[in-house]
Amino acid sequence: MAKMFYEKDANLNLLSEKKVAVIGYGSQGHAHALNLKESGVDVVVGLYKGSKSWTKAKEAGLMVMETSEAVKRSQIVMVLVPDEKQRQLYETEIAPYLEEGDALAFAHGFNIHFGQIVPPKNIDVFMVAPKGPGHLVRRVFTEGQGVPALVAVQQDFTGKAKDLALAYAMGIGAARAGVIETTFKEETETDLFGEQAVLCGGVTELIKAGFDTLTEAGYQPEIAYFECLHEMKLIVDLLYEGGLEKMRYSVSDTAEYGDYMVGKRIVNEDTRKEMKKVLQEIQNGEFAKNWLTENTVNRPVFNAIKKQELEHPLTKVGQNLRNMMSWLNK
Ligand code: NAD
Ligand code: MG
Ligand code: MG
Ligand code: MG
Ligand code: MG
Ligand code: MG
Repeated sequence: MAKMFYEKDANLNLLSEKKVAVIGYGSQGHAHALNLKESGVDVVVGLYKGSKSWTKAKEAGLMVMETSEAVKRSQIVMVLVPDEKQRQLYETEIAPYLEEGDALAFAHGFNIHFGQIVPPKNIDVFMVAPKGPGHLVRRVFTEGQGVPALVAVQQDFTGKAKDLALAYAMGIGAARAGVIETTFKEETETDLFGEQAVLCGGVTELIKAGFDTLTEAGYQPEIAYFECLHEMKLIVDLLYEGGLEKMRYSVSDTAEYGDYMVGKRIVNEDTRKEMKKVLQEIQNGEFAKNWLTENTVNRPVFNAIKKQELEHPLTKVGQNLRNMMSWLNK
């Protein structure tokens, strides 16, 4: 079972003598910076000159400076720029300004785990990864609660890396809810697996296969869209609130019986075998290598498939139907 930590296990005072640089002011960045500041932590936001986020952060009352300057002035550097940009930013704007005993922190393990960023031995390296999007991390904090987070230590030069990670987790509100200890390896591999096999890749193909099956059999695309995509949210909300059992309780017994009879025919032994292969490709670095290479050549495969996917009939049908639902896209 996972090891859990709460506010009683964390000491926010460990941050009181330090300045924290939050690099990037996007989804996670704005939430970390504002939550830390309101927890009394000395925060500076690091951005590049001309970034649209610069005025936003300033207007929110935060100190903003260029990344290199922010790193120089601080002792903890949380890297919250997109994962595929981290390596270059690290090499040019962060690494040259790190000092012995500093801490380098992440909200996802990809770059450390796959060796894209190799920090010097004389600093701490930890992760605090909220289990929710940045906007939730911010909103829940302002309501006096917190979104749970994962913490991990990759390098413990000072002997205090884990305590620092817990203090940071407390500063962003996560320790109010609970913090789970993991490793960079576990977080990275499970995150990639989850999004590929289940959350993104799995769900989108399931929706498309269902939609195609119905429309090829002559059913109206609008009806197929509602049944296979739109209603997904109702089901996912129930799963989120109360797991499989709440969803099954809430749907009709006919739906529940159909679930038991058909689910295993759709996600069958072959699917499970393929999932194991997908996991191996994550574990042996093949996926990371392909994605990193793809980025060095301006994403030809990514862009081509993105375009193809937009040509699927679901796109057009969905646009029309969503226009009928005035409460969407507010
Ligand atoms: P984002 O795309 O929302 O924001 C990126 C920010 O970085 C923007 O403010 C952008 O202006 C800034 N930026 C880009 N290039 C920069 C540069 N060269 N110098 C300085 N700033 C630069 O990113 P995000 O989704 O918040 O992701 C940040 C990290 O958090 C990633 O490691 C991601 O895996 C992790 N994470 C994200 C979420 C999430 O909910 N989005 C959840 C958990 C972990
Ligand atoms: Mg410094
Ligand atoms: Mg994830
Ligand atoms: Mg991910
Ligand atoms: Mg129905
Ligand atoms: Mg029921």
